[in-house]
Amino acid sequence: MGRLQKILIPFLGLVLAFWFYSARDTFKPEMLRGKRVIVTGASTGIGEQLAYHLARMGAHVLVTARTEARLQSVVRRCLELGAASARFVSGTMEDTAFAQHVVREAQTSLGGLDMLILNHVGASYFGFFDGDVEHVRKLLEINFLSYVAMATAALPMLKESEGSIVVVSSMAGKVGFPFTVPYSATKFALDGFFSSLRQEFTIQSINVSITLCILGFIDTERAVRAAAEVLQERPAPRDECALEILKGAALRRRELYYRYSSTRLPLLLRDCAAELLDYLVRSRYRLPAPPGA
Ligand code: NAP
Repeated sequence: MGRLQKILIPFLGLVLAFWFYSARDTFKPEMLRGKRVIVTGASTGIGEQLAYHLARMGAHVLVTARTEARLQSVVRRCLELGAASARFVSGTMEDTAFAQHVVREAQTSLGGLDMLILNHVGASYFGFFDGDVEHVRKLLEINFLSYVAMATAALPMLKESEGSIVVVSSMAGKVGFPFTVPYSATKFALDGFFSSLRQEFTIQSINVSITLCILGFIDTERAVRAAAEVLQERPAPRDECALEILKGAALRRRELYYRYSSTRLPLLLRDCAAELLDYLVRSRYRLPAPPGA
């Protein structure tokens, strides 16, 4: 009996803890109703889907990217889907001043901000590193510095609303990937900056959540065009990916993995079997045979 109690009580404790944790962690679309949200890189791909989900949930949506015609059609669709309001600002994230301007637009037109979703990504190549340092610098400006500039500019509003920063990153920002060296570098930089910032928020009791999204291969046009021929895996659907990002953000998760099986699970090997993980990453590619083979 004594032994049974010793096993049973901790087991029941675990079950109760699990139940409490899951009950607390249930996502409801109403969580985003009326929220004021900026989505960057929203003219296509995952960003566009994020905007549509937010619209269905009744959020105020401010979208941005460079292509004005695409943004106009995204805004129209958001209004059809039930957005509390929808507007766009077009421009390039190569320019830090533009990044800050988008945040000011939220202040002026929405009177504040509840969620900043940093999702845009500059064009890069798929292939061996070509030694072009200027390209690395430009990509860092678009994929990293503009994220820093927007988060910094938005922080006073996010502190006031006790809001959230969502950073869309990649498996390539957690483990070295071949053929996307400049891109991977920018995504690793995001992890360094935002994970350190989260620590400081905790120390300073700043109630702004930071959710880092670690994505695998998603079926956006750009990604499929660049990698479908060489990657031996089926891309995951972008609308489901966008919904998972919003769930993770609304629940104020520190990291979000999508799909779990192709991101979180392989990453468990990182500390105990790094070489094996590297091998598994390389084995995803259909590599050309080495010369003379
Ligand atoms: P995408 O379809 O290529 O969309 C990229 C967005 O960024 C577009 O709206 C584009 O619009 C905008 N953009 C590009 N250059 C810009 C610039 N200089 N200034 C401002 N906006 C710019 O990309 P996605 O596949 O949806 O990826 C979205 C996010 O998910 C990215 O952060 C990416 O790294 C991450 N991710 C994607 C995958 C995947 O397999 N798809 C995997 C892992 C992580 P304009 O051209 O109109 O400016």
